[in-house]
Amino acid sequence: MSIAVVGGAGYIGSHAVRALLAQNRDIVVIDNLETGHEESVPEGVQFYKGDIRDRDFLNEVFEHEQIDQVVHFAANSLVGESMENPLKYYDNNVFGTQILLETMIKHGVKNIVFSSSAATYGEQKKMPITEEAPTAPTSAYGETKLAMERMMKWCDAAHGTKFVSLRYFNVAGASASGVIGEDHEPETHLIPLVLQVANGQREHITIFGEDYPTEDGTCIRDYIHVEDLVDAHILALDYLKEGGESDIFNLGSNQGFSVKEIVETARTVTGHKIPAVIGEKRAGDPAVLIASSEKARKTLEWSPSRTDIVTIIRDAWNWHQHHPHGYKGADRS
Ligand code: UDP
Repeated sequence: MSIAVVGGAGYIGSHAVRALLAQNRDIVVIDNLETGHEESVPEGVQFYKGDIRDRDFLNEVFEHEQIDQVVHFAANSLVGESMENPLKYYDNNVFGTQILLETMIKHGVKNIVFSSSAATYGEQKKMPITEEAPTAPTSAYGETKLAMERMMKWCDAAHGTKFVSLRYFNVAGASASGVIGEDHEPETHLIPLVLQVANGQREHITIFGEDYPTEDGTCIRDYIHVEDLVDAHILALDYLKEGGESDIFNLGSNQGFSVKEIVETARTVTGHKIPAVIGEKRAGDPAVLIASSEKARKTLEWSPSRTDIVTIIRDAWNWHQHHPHGYKGADRS
């Protein structure tokens, strides 16, 4: 039996693929390569290029393969873009998940581990955020992630499809091997953008707003190393396999860093000045997001080991220095 890694050629999916292979798990990768990179899929792994909104395509994959669990990373994930084009998010994220669930139910596949987001919470008064916090997304992106969670909840009630939804805070860093990393086009995330300045690919970093109600006026986020993050997915797969009930878990490092602190740390790690200018706030951005991941630590026995922000930025820097143009020109390895 194999695990279908849906969105397995993307930033987080590709790290999950490596982690699963390192544990000798049987996997198949499904990705439409809209934002993923075929070069990130290791040689020898069964790869299906196609879109989860395509019922026939997905059905064929599930007919061909003996799939018993799904890890679902395939989604659009940019807060800013979702505010400009919300229907793109409903289509790919919500409708895509609907087709995936339909296909799973049709083929009797009972377990799904799902990439959710801290964006489901929106602005919160109480920090750190626990899973009991009310959900009030401030972006269309967050709203679609919540809708996908709810869809899974009702599918569990009706069909017994068990899910673990992992609400990611800010995922960053890269594989310690330096072989895979973050490569988005266009890049919108803070850490890769800051490192592109250090690499000489950008003149400066623009800090989105300086009058948030935080100590230095810039947004605070909880950054989690991508390799710690994917570890939790494997634990979640095993939890479901052992009969665990559907549940939701936060994944973060339980510490917050402001945008200015990230820029400062990147200056230290890279030895580059990294000029910064203050720009407009970005629509949909809450001031502070810090996770409590106690529940994941307890129930899934997850113990992140790369929580130091210097480690996170250093591993990302290692990837960016050696792959300034991402996967361009690389082979499947
Ligand atoms: N940010 C910024 N300048 C940039 C990109 C991001 O100031 O060029 C800020 C953004 O407003 C947010 C934080 O950095 O407060 C992290 O943003 P990112 O896009 O990396 O992740 P998100 O929080 O949207 O998941």
